[in-house]
Amino acid sequence: MKCPVCGNDCVGTAHDILLSIGQIFSPCPDCHGRVLDKRAPLKNRFYESPCSCGKRFIDEVFAHCYVILVEEGLFAGTEPLAKVGMPLIHPGFFMREPPYLPARSLVLISAIVTHGVAVRLVDEVPEIRGVVRSGNFVPGISGPGPGGVPRTYDLLAGCDVRASIFPTSSGPLVLYQQQSQIHIEFPRNYNPKIESVERKITPSTQWFVDAACGVGTLGLTAARFGVPHVVMNDAWFSAAFWSAFNIFVNSEFLSVDEVVMHKTYEEMKARPIGRMPEKIAETRGRQSIEVYQGDLADLYRVLPGVPVLTALDLFNKEDTGLIQRITAHFQEHVIGEVFIP
Ligand SMILES: [Zn+2]
Ligand SMILES: [Zn+2]
Repeated sequence: MKCPVCGNDCVGTAHDILLSIGQIFSPCPDCHGRVLDKRAPLKNRFYESPCSCGKRFIDEVFAHCYVILVEEGLFAGTEPLAKVGMPLIHPGFFMREPPYLPARSLVLISAIVTHGVAVRLVDEVPEIRGVVRSGNFVPGISGPGPGGVPRTYDLLAGCDVRASIFPTSSGPLVLYQQQSQIHIEFPRNYNPKIESVERKITPSTQWFVDAACGVGTLGLTAARFGVPHVVMNDAWFSAAFWSAFNIFVNSEFLSVDEVVMHKTYEEMKARPIGRMPEKIAETRGRQSIEVYQGDLADLYRVLPGVPVLTALDLFNKEDTGLIQRITAHFQEHVIGEVFIP
């Protein structure tokens, strides 16, 4: 499968990913790794090379990055190891032990890297898949409604597309996302939002709407449960695009014959914020799953006049006035229950 961001072969189906995870981050009998103090500077500017099996303990990978940052003058050598950045593992899933990383399994999110250093990290540290420069904000749209502006982190080198595996009671979902473009969500052993969707769905649920869908976690949870009609919507191009892509990735778990994309990644990137909901993908087959890019205030215009169960999963949960206004607006126009997962 071709990656829409880098054009290489860095994405796979849920089947490929789930087959790979059994031993992917486990050490071989020859692997050994030092556990380093993340709050202290790296001693002696030393790191070990990967094992003959191709894996290396995550702390050694961080030590390698640390040495490069010192050589490049971005670090004085007094910074704690953790300052290198935040590791996002591919594929990400709930792990009890820190991982031994194979090649191209780490997206590094760092506030301090420059373009040249990022290129060197990708070239010289085999475990690194991509390097993203972060900012002091959540990537995506700055707020709901027409006033929102796009803000993203910068992919400086490599590719920042990676998958996370989320368990549901019907089985796992594999969800890709582009890390510089969207908020970071860590897979946990227990996901309260997924559980709340599962509690709301009944055998009589015919329509499920994930009104602010992110990369499709809740809509695809409903689809994996077998809900016959699922609508996912997000105003942000990266969310809507990857929701559609993730239907395709997980299609073996769904009753769909085909996923039809109406927009390419490039077309969507050129118009990053949707206003009037526009259908960007839909399935053919027994289950109908549609993805829209648009403002959720107008989503009712594309929904059927029958009862729908709507999950409203907004970032700004602390803004209760906003949530109440949006919920009330939705209930005015749409039949059925709206819930905050
Ligand atoms: Zn890629
Ligand atoms: Zn090994």
